Amino acid sequence: MTEPNWLSEGLDHIWLPYAQMKTAPRPAAAVGTSGVHIKMGDGRQLIDGVASWWTAAHGYNHPHILNAVRDQLSKMPHVMLGGLAHEQPYRLAKRLAAMTPGDLSRVFFTESGSVAVEVAMKIAMQYWRNKTGEKRNKFVSFKGGYHGDTFATMSVCDPEEGMHSLFAGAVSAQHVVDLPIDEDAASALDQLLSTHKDMAAVLVEPLLQGAGGMRVHDGATLKRLRALCDAHGVLLVFDEIFTGFGRTGAMFASEKAGVVPDIMTLGKALTGGVAPLAATIASEKVYAEFHDDDAAKALMHGPTFCGHALGCAAANASLDLFETEPRLEQAQAIETALRKGLSGLKNAPSVADVRILGAMGAVELAQDFSVDQARADFIEMGLFVRPLGRVIYLTPSLTVEMSDLNKLIEGVNEMTRRLG
Ligand code: PLP
Repeated sequence: MTEPNWLSEGLDHIWLPYAQMKTAPRPAAAVGTSGVHIKMGDGRQLIDGVASWWTAAHGYNHPHILNAVRDQLSKMPHVMLGGLAHEQPYRLAKRLAAMTPGDLSRVFFTESGSVAVEVAMKIAMQYWRNKTGEKRNKFVSFKGGYHGDTFATMSVCDPEEGMHSLFAGAVSAQHVVDLPIDEDAASALDQLLSTHKDMAAVLVEPLLQGAGGMRVHDGATLKRLRALCDAHGVLLVFDEIFTGFGRTGAMFASEKAGVVPDIMTLGKALTGGVAPLAATIASEKVYAEFHDDDAAKALMHGPTFCGHALGCAAANASLDLFETEPRLEQAQAIETALRKGLSGLKNAPSVADVRILGAMGAVELAQDFSVDQARADFIEMGLFVRPLGRVIYLTPSLTVEMSDLNKLIEGVNEMTRRLG
């Protein structure tokens, strides 16, 4: 089947994400989805191993979410949240406050993960301005970290290995620290926090760093970070945009680790991948510094699509599914299958490491390889898998059938053999 006209005609005008447009392989046309399968323009069905950048927790076409969005669309696509209240974001805020750990209970909605992290950073900085008048503008972030592509979030990504090194010098320099935090690293960080009095917050992807290479660390690291933040009065921010909604096997990584941050960000699977929506959730302690008779202490942030009704309808329906369908059990079953199917690769000479946590399995190869070629080869195998650097990973929808998951696992084994 020939390529659809819209692709060949649009390709001269569209500017694609993370792509060198001159040399990037021609993207393949997707024309439909069904469950965890992507239907291609040439008639093939691919088993999706990455759930569209880790968003489609329930597969792509769950009728409960689609109906909720249709329903909302027929009543009212959206009205602005400034000055008007509508049901979906209000219901969603209440539900997120109830389900997130500790007293995380004040929810600000944005439309992308990067902006949710920007808002978290802005809240952390303003917290200090409101509380003590201090201009604390700095953050501790971590090697291997990824928090988005906007200017503030670029500053807290890994400055060397991350994709934003081009802008070094143009974005604020932050204090970037290695993970995990063992006792020695904890005393070094303690020292850092004692020396630098301009620190607003420590910002980390808890338990699992995603786009920086699917790196895992233990709960003890997060407990040490919590203790250090408490000792120095610095805020702790968990970016759960990737880890939230079951990816680590628990609803939130913070729950799994038993550590409650002061601010949490959510995105990606918040709507089950159906619509763009993200959230920044602050604790009562943080919110209290904004809740004041002084208008100047308000959070001055308000994206046009703040609390978008369709996104919030999708998110409310997605939360229903976490209540009524066994997603966390499914995540645990995926983890068991990933351990069984990928752990053995640890012994292959071409493999540097295998990392599995919840519904994420990653094989890091020892040598560079052509990511573009590997992606194309996966498509030839009927699989949609997108290695990141040297890391071949699976982050399927939590609803993936075991037979499909086994094909994905076999594909990763086969690719590792080919690249060995
Ligand atoms: N934070 C984390 C942990 C992420 O994984 C991502 C995206 O991959 C982001 C933030 C940025 O989210 P978005 O791409 O929706 O802006």
